[in-house]
Amino acid sequence: MLPEMFENRMKILLGKEWESFLQAMEQPPFRGLRWNPLKCSFDTLHRTLDFPLCPTPFSPLSYEIPAHMERIGLHPLHHAGAFYVQEPSASSAVTVLDPKPGDRVLDVCAAPGGKSTQIGACLQGEGILWSNEVVKSRANILLSNVERMGIRNSVISSCHPDILGQKLAGFFDKVLVDAPCSGEGMFHRDPKAIADWSVEHVQACSVRQFEILHSVSHTVREGGILVYSTCTFSPEENEQVVEHFLREHSEFELEDCEVSFGRPSATLPKTRRIFPMDGGDGHFVARMKRVKPNPNFPSHYPYDACEGNQQKAILELLSHIFKIIPNGSIVKKKDCFYILPSGLPDLDGLGIIRAGILAAEEKTNRLEPTHQLFASAAFENCKQVLNLPLDSKEIRRFLLGEELELQNDVQGFLTVAVEGIPLGFGKASKKRLKNRYPKGLRNHTL
Ligand code: SAM
Repeated sequence: MLPEMFENRMKILLGKEWESFLQAMEQPPFRGLRWNPLKCSFDTLHRTLDFPLCPTPFSPLSYEIPAHMERIGLHPLHHAGAFYVQEPSASSAVTVLDPKPGDRVLDVCAAPGGKSTQIGACLQGEGILWSNEVVKSRANILLSNVERMGIRNSVISSCHPDILGQKLAGFFDKVLVDAPCSGEGMFHRDPKAIADWSVEHVQACSVRQFEILHSVSHTVREGGILVYSTCTFSPEENEQVVEHFLREHSEFELEDCEVSFGRPSATLPKTRRIFPMDGGDGHFVARMKRVKPNPNFPSHYPYDACEGNQQKAILELLSHIFKIIPNGSIVKKKDCFYILPSGLPDLDGLGIIRAGILAAEEKTNRLEPTHQLFASAAFENCKQVLNLPLDSKEIRRFLLGEELELQNDVQGFLTVAVEGIPLGFGKASKKRLKNRYPKGLRNHTL
């Protein structure tokens, strides 16, 4: 049951549309997935999934799936990062942000990674995706989703927006604040969101939302874009936050979202609202442009590319696995080798959890490649591949962490793929494949 106070507020907001809102709330929640073009073609996705994918207006990557489709997070193609489970309208904010290959993009409130992984897909491996999540435990979920979706040009941090604003001033072309909110748009699917709701919470959220926007506004370069989004309906957390921000930040102007989904807000028509009767659970998006100079820019990352024997060892390993060595600077920190995207700022003091790809770890007398190296690989670039059909027993056994038998007597590291989509790897010896699928990702319920 909806809180009475919420109902009263929504009646004022919606006027004669209140009844259609209630009717839409009685329908099953929208279910969707977002295709990940970094990992597979749409044809492969469409051909291999045994349920229909219906395009949505919110993003060319977003598809509605039948309401009864459950547990698709256990699907092998999900493990392979071919798709992200996401309510369709949740993809709307990134459509408004419109990231392009080569952009430097900051996602300030990024966990669990729905919007970050969508930005990563739009960047197509070029530019920088900086995903931040202030709550450390949630940042680890974000990391695992960014890895699963094969994003190579990312930085994942866990720090307060104030620190981002101070240390990364002027660095980004596009910044997304998908703010923590009272979650009224979640009422459709999550009874806990209803139980946690109160007017006081709405007020507290709006104060925090303004503070986050204020802190990270410094990170936007002149001419850059700042997108603010929530999944709630309350005007205090939406239009009023944007109006408050624009009053105090004359260096930003509101721009039209220029999209056809949802509807213009009644009080701030350049912003966009999505209600359940518009085909999505509930979202708000505003797009602002920095129209005044931002003279700041952080110092560059002091790349200390590895040399000598260490360089020889990592290049040997990478050329054993790949036809062409992945782009980026190879850097060693303690026992770990990373492949970093170019153009990084100094990362010091920013709560970095991962920058670029963790490619390999040094063990006694050898280098062990990582799961992430294979999860972010292009299938055509892998030298030795065990490509398995979706319905094979071996796929299930691989996801359970079991050893596999091999037809050929190959040696060394093998990319394991499902339907041509890299899933992970193993080490081959004597016609056996030792499984290296990470324990924490194994699918014990298949
Ligand atoms: N963008 C994410 C996605 O698409 O998967 C969802 C983000 S969720 C709406 C908001 C996030 O903001 C949460 O992960 C929450 O931990 C984080 N958060 C909470 N308080 C914050 C604060 N003061 N500053 C920045 N982020 C905060």
